[in-house]
Amino acid sequence: MRKGYQVKTHGVGTIKRSLYSAEEDATWRGFNTHDGRMTFSYKGLVIDKRNSVYSVRDVKLEGFPVNDIAGVFTDTRTIRIVIDNGLLQSSQDKLARLRERNRNVKCGGCSTPYLFRRDMLIDYLGGKIIQCPYCYHEEFEDRLEWATDENFY
Ligand SMILES: [Zn+2]
Repeated sequence: MRKGYQVKTHGVGTIKRSLYSAEEDATWRGFNTHDGRMTFSYKGLVIDKRNSVYSVRDVKLEGFPVNDIAGVFTDTRTIRIVIDNGLLQSSQDKLARLRERNRNVKCGGCSTPYLFRRDMLIDYLGGKIIQCPYCYHEEFEDRLEWATDENFY
């Protein structure tokens, strides 16, 4: 009885830890150096890469078969095929808007692409700057260089 209880506690603890680390990832995004972690847009979908493991963040796209991309992928070829197929079933209007919103910035300092977020912009000298999450290079918004969203990084 007592043993069984302990096993259960351990299980719950494990789940909690993994949830926590997901939160931790979100918190750390933006402060970490590469460290095997990246967030980028692939054709408008937000991809989290951790070491060589990819996952697709909440897809809010009409028609997209979200169950197909649940979980994690280690093979870029597979995940691209799954996403590309899903996009064919999606609303093309909505997809175009999603792609417009989720763009990749190419850092002028370290050349790393990263997902652009408006809330990353900081007011500076009458303009807005964005800071690279990997090398802290700062660039004015109107001088940003964009990276393609057709690559898997
Ligand atoms: Zn950089």
